[in-house]
Amino acid sequence: MTDIKSTPLCEQLKAIVGSAGFLEGEHIERKNFKDWMGARAIRPPLLLRPESTSQVSQILALCHAHKQPIAPQGGMTGLVSAAAPLEGEIALSFERMKSVIEVDPVTATMTVEAGVELQTIQEQADAHALLFPLDLGARGSCTIGGNLSTNAGGNRVIRYGMTRDLVIGVEAVLADGTVIDGLHKLRKNNTGYDLKQLFIGSEGTLGVITRAVLKLSAKPSSQSVALCAVRSFSDVSRLLMHMQSELGANLSAFEVIWNNAYRLIDEKVSHITVPLATEYAFYVLIESMGNNPDTDGEQFVSSLGSASEAGLVAEAIIADSDVKIANLWAVRDGAAEVMGIGFMHAYDVSLDIADMGYFGDEVERRLRASWPDAVIGLFGHIGDGNVHIIINVGPKTQSLHLEIDTTIYQLIQELGGSVSAEHGIGLMKKPFLAHSRSEAEIALMKTLKQALDPRGILNPGRIIN
Ligand code: FAD
Ligand code: ZN
Repeated sequence: MTDIKSTPLCEQLKAIVGSAGFLEGEHIERKNFKDWMGARAIRPPLLLRPESTSQVSQILALCHAHKQPIAPQGGMTGLVSAAAPLEGEIALSFERMKSVIEVDPVTATMTVEAGVELQTIQEQADAHALLFPLDLGARGSCTIGGNLSTNAGGNRVIRYGMTRDLVIGVEAVLADGTVIDGLHKLRKNNTGYDLKQLFIGSEGTLGVITRAVLKLSAKPSSQSVALCAVRSFSDVSRLLMHMQSELGANLSAFEVIWNNAYRLIDEKVSHITVPLATEYAFYVLIESMGNNPDTDGEQFVSSLGSASEAGLVAEAIIADSDVKIANLWAVRDGAAEVMGIGFMHAYDVSLDIADMGYFGDEVERRLRASWPDAVIGLFGHIGDGNVHIIINVGPKTQSLHLEIDTTIYQLIQELGGSVSAEHGIGLMKKPFLAHSRSEAEIALMKTLKQALDPRGILNPGRIIN
């Protein structure tokens, strides 16, 4: 491979972004080539940091002409090893495109550049008495461009939907530099294909997102949170139905922690003290958000009371202050902070809620058949049918990736579930895409890739070949 640094392409790229937007060699920091999974750390030949859509367009046009592969990157918090560059790929970062362009209270929209961090968007909405409901543990580092490209899920999907449901307009740049200007505030726009969907959830393989118009919601004025101990999975699903019918649209989270994960949080996350005894089979965090502060809290407590009378809840703690609400959420978030065991493989599968009790038992049974001392923890957004699993099977965990994946994804295939509910496919899950997608669907994905990126310069090899 020719060293790009000695080519005219390099000088032309530098001329587009200027010296502030151009880094090469040793000057490129690890954060720009190693993502959260840390599966690889290959220093890219160049890091480009454009500051406008026009610069992105010029970069892509040039790279397209030279068949130069590119890895777009946001906050590098993705969990499927997609944004970290492969050998010879230029890194394209949005860290200089971080403006909140406008908050419009009348249309309840916010217009942002791709590099704005999720937490900044949440705070800006809050400052205007509005809510941007997308929320995930990586909020302080992940960017809206990354959230859109992965169609991120998170904690409040049950009420507000995935990132796809929270966006009105997208401006994107195609592989050849063409700007697709879909940056509008029209909530209703049935003029042919909804082109923004090509870029949402396609992990930077069909185009690069530069700006977006986000949909904001009314900011709730009440928040009630409880952690409930539950004896069986059938009680968990009955509790979900009960809370859905009692709280209606106010139900904003229904998160479940299996006993195995709860014990791991208790033992391995030093800053968290679990508030309920560790003997129960399941722990359910329930959240309600509403706009009638005088009655919402009472309704929440009475719904839990009737669930308890029906025998669905063995024990419950209801948070009665903001600090206590944060403490209960910290227990749930603690599932992502289990430390000191060694490398943990993380999964984000989805399946029918009716199959989930069986799924949890079967994961344990099948993994223990090969690795009797495996450390296993299940938790997730059960209101959305999404389970996360963390697994360590001993010192060789990392190198046994394929065997462990095969065990989990085989079971998912048997149950007609999805190998990725929210993190995406990237490189890590590519061998298992066919477990959840038909041959015809994968062929159509390849047709789209060929049409939009005929030279294969955008995140080559991610999702499909
Ligand atoms: P990156 O990791 O930088 O990139 C992700 C993908 O998007 C890559 O394919 C990259 O090439 C592409 N990309 C980035 N920016 C652009 C752009 N502007 N245009 C085109 N392509 C682009 N995910 C969930 O869905 N739900 C969760 O609950 C959740 N919780 C998490 C908790 C923790 C602690 C961590 C570390 C991660 C979690 N994630 C979760 C995963 C991750 O945060 C999301 O996938 C997030 O959306 C990635 O955003 P990012 O800016 O870090 O993107
Ligand atoms: Zn999640």
